Amino acid sequence: MHIVVAPNPVLREKSEPIAPGEIKNFRPVAKQMAKLMYKSQGCGLAAPQVGIGKRLIVVDVTAPDEDGEAAEKDPVFFINPVIKRLWGEKEVSDEGCLSIPGIQIPIERYNNIEVEALDLDGEPFALEAEGFYARALQHELDHLEGTTMFEHLDPIERIQAIKEYEEALKAGAKPGDTSVEKDR
Ligand SMILES: [Zn+2]
Repeated sequence: MHIVVAPNPVLREKSEPIAPGEIKNFRPVAKQMAKLMYKSQGCGLAAPQVGIGKRLIVVDVTAPDEDGEAAEKDPVFFINPVIKRLWGEKEVSDEGCLSIPGIQIPIERYNNIEVEALDLDGEPFALEAEGFYARALQHELDHLEGTTMFEHLDPIERIQAIKEYEEALKAGAKPGDTSVEKDR
């Protein structure tokens, strides 16, 4: 399993729901995704980012310590997540994406979200999040709709961002990098 990067077409496809009977087959996939997320120092990963067009995401917003390791790993898995509510202030903040290495893009998000999903046992749960957690969830849920950070930008900003991204790739940006040395 590895992280696919833009412009891989799988990142622009809408993902399929996971049938209840299939959930157990996706447990090892979900665990591998979490491992890969930690290895890449990300705080979220969606199945399309590893080339799997299914509605599965993992998020862990536990702050990493100095070594980049999460102090206490606490991955939350969401199968077939549905947004029940989005509310609160909309804020713009820089985001990175493991599938768009080397750059950060300012994205407007709601401060609060409520999501319903199934866990890895197929049990339904609801979760409310705010701030950075809410932002991370909105970012990962976008991936299930085939929406990347680029689609949040207007056409002119998008051309700029894609240019910056192409330069970052040329400079050797890898998943987990949020910037590259321009003179590398
Ligand atoms: Zn992403």
